[in-house]
Amino acid sequence: MEVDPQQAFEEILSSEKYLERLSSMANRGVEAFTLDFEDVLSYNFELAHSLVDKPDELLKHASNAAMQRLRVASPDYAEQVKGLTVRVSQLPEVTPIREIGAKHVGKLVMVEGVVVRSTPVQPLVVTAAFRCRACGEVTPVPQDGEFLRQPYRCQNPDCHRSGCFDFVESESEYVDSQSLRIQELPEELPPGQIPTSLDLKAVGSDLRDAARPGDQVKVVGVVRASSTFMPKGGRPRTLKIHVDVNNIIPVSREPESLNISPEEEAKIKELAKDPWVHKKLVQSIAPSMYGNEHVKEACLYLLFGGVPKKLPDINVRGDLNVLIVGDPSTFKSQLLRYVVTVAPRGVYTSGRGTTAAGLTASVIRTEKEGVTLEAGAMVLADRGIVAIDEIDKMRPEDRVAIHTAMEQQVVPVAKGGIVATLNARTAVLAAANPQFGRYVEQRTVIENINLPPTILSRFDLIFILKDVPDKEVDAKVSRHVLGLHRTRGAAVQPPIEQELLRKYVAYARNITPVLTPEAEDRLHEFYLKMRQASSDGSMAITLRQLESLVRIAEARARAALRAEVTAEDAEAAILIMNRSLQDVGIDTSTMKVDVDTIMTGKPKSMRDALAVLLDVIFELQRETGMAELKAVFDEAERRGIPASECERLIAQLKRDGTVYEPREGYLKKT
Ligand SMILES: [Zn+2]
Repeated sequence: MEVDPQQAFEEILSSEKYLERLSSMANRGVEAFTLDFEDVLSYNFELAHSLVDKPDELLKHASNAAMQRLRVASPDYAEQVKGLTVRVSQLPEVTPIREIGAKHVGKLVMVEGVVVRSTPVQPLVVTAAFRCRACGEVTPVPQDGEFLRQPYRCQNPDCHRSGCFDFVESESEYVDSQSLRIQELPEELPPGQIPTSLDLKAVGSDLRDAARPGDQVKVVGVVRASSTFMPKGGRPRTLKIHVDVNNIIPVSREPESLNISPEEEAKIKELAKDPWVHKKLVQSIAPSMYGNEHVKEACLYLLFGGVPKKLPDINVRGDLNVLIVGDPSTFKSQLLRYVVTVAPRGVYTSGRGTTAAGLTASVIRTEKEGVTLEAGAMVLADRGIVAIDEIDKMRPEDRVAIHTAMEQQVVPVAKGGIVATLNARTAVLAAANPQFGRYVEQRTVIENINLPPTILSRFDLIFILKDVPDKEVDAKVSRHVLGLHRTRGAAVQPPIEQELLRKYVAYARNITPVLTPEAEDRLHEFYLKMRQASSDGSMAITLRQLESLVRIAEARARAALRAEVTAEDAEAAILIMNRSLQDVGIDTSTMKVDVDTIMTGKPKSMRDALAVLLDVIFELQRETGMAELKAVFDEAERRGIPASECERLIAQLKRDGTVYEPREGYLKKT
């Protein structure tokens, strides 16, 4: 049966639901409303099919029909508006981004992905006004292409010349437009593949900032093929694909949507009942890699994570951050890759970043779109895990932004006219190489790692892997590796296979365990004992570590699908925290603990000298806005810091970013 499209749409839109939508649209002064695709589908299958097949034509009919209905619903508003935009809600199926191609050109599709890039909202000319240089008459020209089109002839009948014209900005008409780019979701990316992306063009004030980088969205739109540059005398035969956005539908970034069947759920619950479940889980992480059980255990806690808390004044993160520092030959990279594959959402990157956006975010300038905000790995990993290999090699911009990203879990951006705050609610598993190629025992952790203490202190756990020859261990590793080759991997069948582990983690992350009084007591006692161990004003353990302990204990409870954090969880958390403290050079057995030394990289006496020096710089700076280097040296010497020491400390302060040299021979506190 042939249907008249406009009449059909008028019938669909005559229901109570749409009359309400149209009036509400009129009340808000908007010129767009949503048409549910399923209503079209249930009205007439052919019509729905045509809408997907010939969207440009059909949407025009729908818009005309909506206008008819608006004249009934809100006649006054109908008088004011020029036309209505019909936005289509969810199509029945999502077309994978990597499948969008020639056969989709001109068709309506729905794609899903994460926004990686956006430009600021820019005015797009819909009607361009051109003034004739000969007679001054203004001719309006409707625009739809990529480039401004001039009138053929002046519209003044007495003139009718074909040139020259000047574009009149003030008399032209504009709409808001924004270019976006979406990319395949990290969790849907086939292993080892580079993510495919798709450019979008969103037009209309109701779509203003509908999505920012890092947001997960479904996008309904029409696929277009266009040539980027128009060379003189023709168009290139291969065109670039983009999507003209019809509708943007935000999707929550929770990755729990992993399809867990009832059978799998039963298996997961069964596993969790095992008193040795933690051991089994640890053994299932990177099973072909021998040893370093404590590092695997930390990765396990990182996968499950603690519970984020929203306090009235601050948000406390639930995600754990773990750093592995190791000699180049150790298994860091392999472990990072493994953890990413079992994470419900995992992003693997290197410190240098795999895109221009790096680890956090970047404002970049492209020839075609101008200023563009692009999401980095930590934003793409929102609500998941980011594994950063060679974090010590990160870009200077990331060194600044990563502090906020790791603690507040957001990436603030204010650059090039773009002001935005992007979510980066992600656990960080990072690896770093020692600064001198190998870990040097005689030096402190800070000296061994090329990372500022302020970043180190954002890690809940830090482990050092040293490749030291040890006859006994070497023999075991050798047997393990040879065994792998002999049995072709059969010897390392993990107790829980990879895909089930991934679902196990996703399932467990929905649990929000609560500390039992016993668990609280254990953590409390440990904290007090460690605090007392510090005597002469040096800070032993800090509240940061206490929060870390809570997160670890919560993660351990989650791993057993428990809603309660037990004393056993608390003790396991203390054990692994102790191991980490020992690794970074603290002797926990004698309780000679000075976390401050580790985290600030300065022993107490040097800290005192630093404090004096900072005072000096600050006092001098107060007078003239800057501290003259020579005056700093003189004053520091007067207060008992020798020039050589002073020079070393200033170098360190500059490295930390505490002071900088605004100009030659002067210092300034940041
Ligand atoms: Zn003219």
